[in-house]
Amino acid sequence: MEVQAGIERRLTRQVMVGDVPVGGGAPITVQSMTVTRTADHEATLQQIYDLAMAGADIVRCTCNELEAAEGLAHIVPRSPVPIVADIHHQHRMALAALEAGVHCLRLNPGNIRKPEHIRTVAAEARDRGVPIRIGVNGGSLHPDLYAKYGGKVTAEAMVESALDEIRYFEEVDFNLIKISVKASSVPLMVEAYHQLSEVTDYPLHLGVTEAGPPPAGLIKSSAGIGALLAQGIGDTIRYSLTADPVEEARAGRTLLEAMGLRERKNVDLIACPSCGRAEIDVVAVAEEAMAAFADREIPLQVAVMGCVVNGPGEARDADLGIAAGNRRGHLFIKGRNAAVVREDEMVDALVEWAVLIHEEGAEAALARVDTEKARREAEKDRDRLLAEQGDDANDAGTKIELIRRHTS
Ligand code: SF4
Repeated sequence: MEVQAGIERRLTRQVMVGDVPVGGGAPITVQSMTVTRTADHEATLQQIYDLAMAGADIVRCTCNELEAAEGLAHIVPRSPVPIVADIHHQHRMALAALEAGVHCLRLNPGNIRKPEHIRTVAAEARDRGVPIRIGVNGGSLHPDLYAKYGGKVTAEAMVESALDEIRYFEEVDFNLIKISVKASSVPLMVEAYHQLSEVTDYPLHLGVTEAGPPPAGLIKSSAGIGALLAQGIGDTIRYSLTADPVEEARAGRTLLEAMGLRERKNVDLIACPSCGRAEIDVVAVAEEAMAAFADREIPLQVAVMGCVVNGPGEARDADLGIAAGNRRGHLFIKGRNAAVVREDEMVDALVEWAVLIHEEGAEAALARVDTEKARREAEKDRDRLLAEQGDDANDAGTKIELIRRHTS
């Protein structure tokens, strides 16, 4: 066991996917998959670069035809991250992908069924030191296992499928194994991974398969993957979304950062939910800020708050924030007022100050400004808003008074 972010992580063996370690206490990695035709190697490489920028540590490409294997031969040497070849049905494609130099294979035991084929691929991968993920999928379980478990997919059936496959691999002394037991049902995949983690110490690749489009797909994936990670289970993750794969990579990265399992890479934008006190359209400004920071590698927490009455206090732990008041933006650094900008310059100011703090540190940024003056200005706008709106900007007191009058 290794403790990380307060979570006792189950210790697994380690395999190397190219130069990226998976398992054995290594940082949990984010995976995604390209949706281009692998044969179109330029388009696929472009997408791999986009995915890597968005936080993917490892990228999978389908290898479903000879042209795809040839595409991989172009892709692998130029890729910024290790490449996994996804193999279904044809074990010959696995051999071709190994020839192309991929860093890992993913085999689905539900559709590569002949033991001699599995052993051939495992022996070839063993000789090249290339790991293989056994990717069991609830939706493509071996028919015998369906029958054995009453004609339905169960956690036990999925685990048995994985263990059968492991046996074939171990028969040829192959143990560079990762395993996944994905299902589109969150409770089913959680149970399957639980059971699997009890019987093997191979590293586990987590995912909710066919999670669907966002937001439901994001929620299902976060629920399943997050629940397992919180219990220390899982070494690498993938969000399977019906969306631009860049969203998958971003989501995976965000989940790990939010759980304290990976260091922050990009801005963590927090924003208030808005309320009757809001002086700006918080949703629009937060979205504008998200777009402005995009994939800039600035590992700071940045807050967008709708009013200067409560905003600076509520976001005092953020590295940097801005709160609206009286058509102005009050910028604060680590809870200390730093500057006042025009309302329409709030997002630009956030970006400018985030870059400065990232490069020079918060204290150096604060040393450049008159914090006392900024505090007085913020106080002035706060007092003015309180005078206009009172303590109860949502007018709940008046409403309660009326309710009581009607019901008394
Ligand atoms: S009180 Fe101000 S900071 Fe808090 S939710 Fe309302 S607008 Fe946002």
